[in-house]
Amino acid sequence: MNIDGKVAIITGAGSGIGRATAQRLASEGAAIVVADVNEAGSAETVAAIEKAGGRAAAVRVDVTRSADIDSMFAFARKTFGGFDILYNNAGITTGLPRWPDCPEENWRKTIDVDLVGVIEATRKAIPLLKERGGGVIIHTASLAGLFGFQADPVYSAAKHGVVGLTRALVSLKDEANIRVNCVCPAVVDTPLVTSGLQSLTGAAREELERRLAMMPMLKPEDIAQGVVELIENDEAAGLAMGITIGERRIVDPPIRLPVTSGDTAALPQR
Ligand code: NAD
Repeated sequence: MNIDGKVAIITGAGSGIGRATAQRLASEGAAIVVADVNEAGSAETVAAIEKAGGRAAAVRVDVTRSADIDSMFAFARKTFGGFDILYNNAGITTGLPRWPDCPEENWRKTIDVDLVGVIEATRKAIPLLKERGGGVIIHTASLAGLFGFQADPVYSAAKHGVVGLTRALVSLKDEANIRVNCVCPAVVDTPLVTSGLQSLTGAAREELERRLAMMPMLKPEDIAQGVVELIENDEAAGLAMGITIGERRIVDPPIRLPVTSGDTAALPQR
C-alpha cells in the first residue's frame, strides 16, 4: 500500500512507538487519528505532526472499552472520511509486584489492554475495511510474544496471543484484501521502560539500571520503519516481524492449515 493520501488510526500514539510511527506515517503523507487515553500526550503528537506540515487529529480512546473503539472509528469517518490503516499499538506491562504476587486486577488489565483491546479493535475494523475494499492492520506485539519473557509472564502471554491472532488472520488477505501483520520489538527506549525505572528505589533500581546499561535499546523510530515496511509490502500477511538492533526479520511465516478436511487448497505452505 502506498501510504501517501491514506488515513491511519494509531492507538497509543500519545507516546513512544505510537507517536514516532504517527510522525513517520504523517511525513509519508497519511492523515493520522491519534487514539490514546492520555489526552495531553495525544495533543503533543498532533502538535508535532502539524508543526511538520502533516495532518492529524486526536480522540480519547481506552482500548479496553468497546464503546470507545466504536467512537474511534466514528471519529475517523467524521474527520477524515474513514481509515485504511489500523495500528493497534497501545500497551502496558504488569508492573510490580510481579505476577503471581500482583493483585488480580493488575494482570487482568495487562490482558485487557494488550490482547482483548487488540482483538476487539480488529473485530470491529474488519467490516469497515471490507466496505472500503481492503486495508492494513498492524499490531505491536513484542519479542516477548515470541519467547518467554520471565520478567512479566502475563505480558508475554498477552503478546503471544497477539502473534497468534496475527498469524491466524493470514487468510483475510485473499478473502478481503485486508493484510494483518505485527511487529515484535526488543527493548525500545520509551516511557514504558524508563518510567518503570523511576518507580523503583534502592537495590532494585540499581539492578535495573545495570541491566539497561548492558542492553542497547532500539529507538521508537526503528519500529516505525518496520511498520512502514509491512504497510508497503503488498505480499505481507500473517507475519510477525522481529525487530532487534540493526535487524528486521520475518519470524516463522504462518502455516496455513486446512479449515475443513476437504480444504486441500489450504494445505501447509511456507
Ligand atoms: P509508551 O508507554 O511510551 O506508550 C504506550 C501508550 O499506550 C501510552 O501513550 C499510553 O497512554 C497508551 N495506552 C495505555 N493503555 C491504554 C488504553 N487502555 N487505551 C488507549 N491507550 C492506552 O510505551 P511504548 O513502548 O511506546 O509501547 C507501545 C507498544 O509497544 C506497547 O504495546 C508495548 O507493549 C510494545 N512494546 C514496547 C517495547 C519497549 O521496550 N518499549 C518492546 C516491545 C513491545
